[in-house]
Amino acid sequence: MDYLPVFLKLRAARAVIVGGGRIAARKADLLLAAGARVTVAAPRLHEDLQSRVAAGELVHLAQAFVPAHLDGAALAIAATGIRAVNTAVSQAARERGVPVNVVDDASLSTFIFPAIIDRSPVVVAVGSAGQAPVLARWVREQIEAILPSSLGALARFMGERRATVQRAIGAAARRALWERIVRGRTAAHVLAGEESRAQRAFEAELLISQLTTSAATGASALGEVYLIGAGPGDPDLLTLRALQLLQQADVVLYDRLVPAAVLERARREARRIFVGKARGPSPEHTPQEDIHEMMIRFARQGLKVARLKGGDPFVFGRGGEEMEALARHGIPCRVVPGITAALGAAAAAGIPLTQRGLSQSVTFVTGHVAEDERLDWRALAGAGQTVVFYMGVGRLEPIVARLRAAGARDTLGAALIERATLPEQRVLRATLAQIAALGSRAGISPPALLIVGDVAGVAPAADAAAMRPPAPAETAADLMQPI
Ligand code: SAH
Repeated sequence: MDYLPVFLKLRAARAVIVGGGRIAARKADLLLAAGARVTVAAPRLHEDLQSRVAAGELVHLAQAFVPAHLDGAALAIAATGIRAVNTAVSQAARERGVPVNVVDDASLSTFIFPAIIDRSPVVVAVGSAGQAPVLARWVREQIEAILPSSLGALARFMGERRATVQRAIGAAARRALWERIVRGRTAAHVLAGEESRAQRAFEAELLISQLTTSAATGASALGEVYLIGAGPGDPDLLTLRALQLLQQADVVLYDRLVPAAVLERARREARRIFVGKARGPSPEHTPQEDIHEMMIRFARQGLKVARLKGGDPFVFGRGGEEMEALARHGIPCRVVPGITAALGAAAAAGIPLTQRGLSQSVTFVTGHVAEDERLDWRALAGAGQTVVFYMGVGRLEPIVARLRAAGARDTLGAALIERATLPEQRVLRATLAQIAALGSRAGISPPALLIVGDVAGVAPAADAAAMRPPAPAETAADLMQPI
């Protein structure tokens, strides 16, 4: 190498440019960008330099060059276009041990400027030892074209998290972590400007590093995923298998519908990660594909992943998609059924979903279909059955209107059950004709179910024991004892 490429720290250092023309102005911009205190020595100034002086960004010495101008300088540039002056600058700089660049004259220079690709804090410098500047610029263009414009954002993202990583994991694991971040989804999200997705991907990677490097987790070579139904909310309605697997999990990925009281039942050391979907755009929204990717990633690292979903994973829970994604990647997956909201709500409100003489069938329908013409509303409005609408709170009016238009009786029983089985549970009963107005007056909000059918009119048990909210008695530890 004819020259050693280095990155010089010029922040607050004195840099002197001799010459006041256009080229001097360009060099001044470069030095200012690096944070130098720039002095320009020249009898006359180009207008670009004048405006910088006026703005107080640099100091102007309106004099012909004298060697003393370089006293205390960290760097000198000669850009006068006059060979005698340039030579004098070069000589004075060398005498003072100040690195000097003479524009377009490598023989008078002790350093030369590379062609730069600036994605600060990432900077790529290309040089040709002054032999082929045009070639160096061509190389720069090639590199420019392949480096994403948001590379700087990625470098800052990583820089801001260095301390966190340093605190969280040992030196040996760090490099592997950063490699995964640069090559994986985290970087892709940062480069795409998706901050919150990037942050989640980063946290997942960090967690993998922490869990797989700590011997205490007992992670086996092959991880697995448990798709667990958490039931309607009351932790007592978890299945024994759900509890057992929650006790084995290294990581718990949980939805919005899973209450804290259920999460408490997971192994104490298990890391709990919220992957819920918000209504409407929100930084908390986790796209489905990110959930798939997280589960796969954790499992590949040998971790046991509990994917905890409200109710039952296969009832309006996208459990099927998650199972398929895992299968595509060869990740072992066990499905644990949960008590779906309709069953929890019916029990809690004392509504027998089927009852001899009243209802011979039950249908679970998503309220998203409220306006859907293709749905067989006549079939849903027929007599002798029960229909349970999930996710229908915001669409009570159209649902009821469709049912009535399809022939459902105005006097048919209807019930709204909000936050079924949870301490805040509310149950409203009315006729089909009145239920929507009643629901909006009471301010019923998700999660809530609409149950339509004669069974909704069945009188609940006298002491309504089933309706009483669960006592928040035992601690998680107590509950775990018998298992
Ligand atoms: N997989 C879940 C359903 C998810 S869809 C299950 O099997 O229950 C979300 C909808 O479920 C909510 O909009 C609401 O209609 C219903 N839901 C879930 N938990 C509920 C609860 N505790 N009380 C009433 N409705 C509930």
